[in-house]
Amino acid sequence: MLNTVYIGLGSNLDQPLQQVTQALEEINAITGTTLVSHSPWYKSTAVGPIQPDFINGVAKAHTSLDAHRFLTALQAIEQAHQRVRKEHWGPRTLDLDILLWNNDTIATERLTVPHAFMTERSFVLLPLNDIASELSLPNGTPLKALVQQCDQTGIEQI
Ligand code: AMP
Repeated sequence: MLNTVYIGLGSNLDQPLQQVTQALEEINAITGTTLVSHSPWYKSTAVGPIQPDFINGVAKAHTSLDAHRFLTALQAIEQAHQRVRKEHWGPRTLDLDILLWNNDTIATERLTVPHAFMTERSFVLLPLNDIASELSLPNGTPLKALVQQCDQTGIEQI
């Protein structure tokens, strides 16, 4: 069975646009996985300590892997980008998150889906809306409603 997954991509170090663009190719190269589409990129002011602006976007993929194996593959990509993880909210070379997995709700030690913060973050909601405006979350909330509610200060499409 092919699973449909939406992935959040973000970077604010070491040529962020290059990091996220390259990550799309690397996602497409994951075993059993095909990149279906991706959003435009957005630039946003970082949350937390003072640090460079983030580049964010969302990709849609089909994969025959299960969710945990897919997460392992995403983490391998993050590590290959030599991600810096000194502070929780600090700068990072590449951050890849599973936003949505089919219409499933997942709650394990390694994986929370829908992703915990996606319902309020404009840097996830805006690019997701660009490629999947008709989507609803597993609990039935339409993406459009979340987009209307979210704070869109400090973010622009590039
Ligand atoms: P961070 O890189 O700071 O976003 O957090 C990485 C950790 O979040 C890893 O230990 C993952 O196991 C965990 N995690 C929980 N849910 C997710 C998800 N939906 N996507 C990616 N990582 C997740």
